[in-house]
Amino acid sequence: MPEAIIVHGGAWDIPADLHAEHVAGCRAAAEAGWAVLSRRGSALDAVEAAVRVMEEHPVFDAGFGSHLNRDAAVELDAGMMDGRTLMAGAVAAVKRVRDPISLARRVLHDSEHVFLVGEGAELFAQEVGMALCDPAELIVERERLAWERRRAAAPAAANSRAAFVARSSDTVGAAALDADGNLAVGNSTGGTFFKHPGRVGDTPIIGCGLYADNTLGAAACTGWGEQIMKTVLAKTTVDQIALLGNAATAANVAIAYFKLRIGGLGGIICLSPEGQVGWAHSTPHMAYAYRTAGMDAVVAALKSAA
Ligand code: ASP
Repeated sequence: MPEAIIVHGGAWDIPADLHAEHVAGCRAAAEAGWAVLSRRGSALDAVEAAVRVMEEHPVFDAGFGSHLNRDAAVELDAGMMDGRTLMAGAVAAVKRVRDPISLARRVLHDSEHVFLVGEGAELFAQEVGMALCDPAELIVERERLAWERRRAAAPAAANSRAAFVARSSDTVGAAALDADGNLAVGNSTGGTFFKHPGRVGDTPIIGCGLYADNTLGAAACTGWGEQIMKTVLAKTTVDQIALLGNAATAANVAIAYFKLRIGGLGGIICLSPEGQVGWAHSTPHMAYAYRTAGMDAVVAALKSAA
């Protein structure tokens, strides 16, 4: 089976001065994932490696460098799914976990549950031997200043369309196909800027932000989570891959539906069971990178709306 990896680094109106960093971060993530696949590592390992690179990169809204919520705290969400077994793991609203994708992976393998939140998720992290971090360690100056400016500004709905387009979000995600023909997907985010404490978006929710099934395909979404949840966008995309037999067309069809039905703002990356890649977005920009068998290097780009 030909290996493939595709990653995203968010879909929104990414400011010009951040374009290069988004492209570089996506490239590094896809390269890390490809390195795993090329030594016959599993799709799950490739996805985890790729997402961790972006969680550690401060430009993205995931792990270190994430957006602050209304109370000036970082609250992180992440999820993973194994396309071979349909096993899934997710965490939400964790404040003391630097790489929540790895905690989601532990939930997938080591918990009888699929989804753990808040203090319970952090307790599980300790039970499986993962170190917790100081919440302050996740905050970067850029985000602290953005939060100060937002607090001083005239009150506007933190979750409005205008707020989303203006400053949300660089959620990260990856989908991979390994040499054994197994698909996996993962997503990680700090959520929307200035969100209500406890707010969870689509990113860790199976079927909404991510879905993988070896028999159908894999997809990860980014964008305005409240809209993505209502349209179950990842499963919608994967179903289109199965129906149309083409990942690129499926991504376009899913985004067209998302836009038409709900005025959706977001982006999708996806893989077919054969390793075709697809991506589409309805936002001004989306950052992504991919490599498939037969390519000499990762292609990384920041796509602008047509
Ligand atoms: N979907 C994420 C959320 O709503 C944000 C993003 O993708 O950037 O939390």
